Amino acid sequence: MAVNYKYELVGVLGYPVAENPTCVMQEAGFAALGLQWRYLTMEVKPKALPDAMRGVRALGMRGINLTIPHKVAVMALLDDIAPDAKMIGAVNTVRREGDRLIGENTDGKGFLRGLRESGIDPRGKRIVVLGAGGAARAITVELALAGAAELIVINRSIDRGQALVADLKSRTGANAQFKPWSATVAIGPETDVLVNATSIGLYPDIDATPDVDLKSARTDLLVCDVIPNPPETRLVQAARAQGLQTLTGLSMLVYQGTIGFEMWTGQPAPEAAMKRALEQAFGL
Ligand code: NDP
Repeated sequence: MAVNYKYELVGVLGYPVAENPTCVMQEAGFAALGLQWRYLTMEVKPKALPDAMRGVRALGMRGINLTIPHKVAVMALLDDIAPDAKMIGAVNTVRREGDRLIGENTDGKGFLRGLRESGIDPRGKRIVVLGAGGAARAITVELALAGAAELIVINRSIDRGQALVADLKSRTGANAQFKPWSATVAIGPETDVLVNATSIGLYPDIDATPDVDLKSARTDLLVCDVIPNPPETRLVQAARAQGLQTLTGLSMLVYQGTIGFEMWTGQPAPEAAMKRALEQAFGL
């Protein structure tokens, strides 16, 4: 049998990046399918990004993830950008089509896959999103494209929240509105889905929780959190204690990775193996 010592390469560029757990999940996926692929975690300073992307091309890498601070800057270094990534204004995944590098954003798509798996189709729904940063942008664009009836963005900083809603309206035609986060956010019976897309509650600040009141929420409200670590945030715990359905940030993290895996390899991702590897990395 012919010997093949060659690996297909993918990876992530970030700064800092050492604590990014994606390699564990992707390599578990390659192992589960017996693929001779490697996922490299690479620290790249902002001014070195153009050289790093030339390296991605020169090495024939099959794809790359981008994390902080490269998700916007990489867009100028690609051959094409998927329509939804353009609307979001950021790229977290690059895939190769021949010699061309195409920018994608799988964060919002990963969220949507989890939402649908929870039995919720966003079409026609009223969805309240806390936050207006990168995660909120990706999620709200995909919700708008999936036909959400009403998107309410609530954010502490007014400029950022208004800018997101203006972009959502002009780029997706969504019915979106901004509300400043000035007091406790009361979730009433008219809301179908609540999403925490802020970083409140992220490890190590695990006792922090968004200031929301779920007392008058519907009994079938779905409460979602983007925080992957810990997956059981205080918000998720409070919602479960009230008997509400929940979706954790671990689901979003797994699915944004499995969607990238499928874009790169062209094969269905072994989701269970990838999820288990990530849970182990988080000590769960
Ligand atoms: P950004 O820095 O772009 O945005 C952070 C958001 O959180 C802003 O809206 C900010 O409000 C808000 N915020 C932070 N602290 C507070 C506070 N104390 N009170 C009120 N609002 C606050 O970060 P990202 O959007 O990139 O990431 C947000 C979270 O999403 C992170 O925890 C990240 O881990 C998670 N994430 C999860 C993914 C997954 O796959 N599960 C994928 C991507 C991100 P303001 O504008 O006022 O500063």
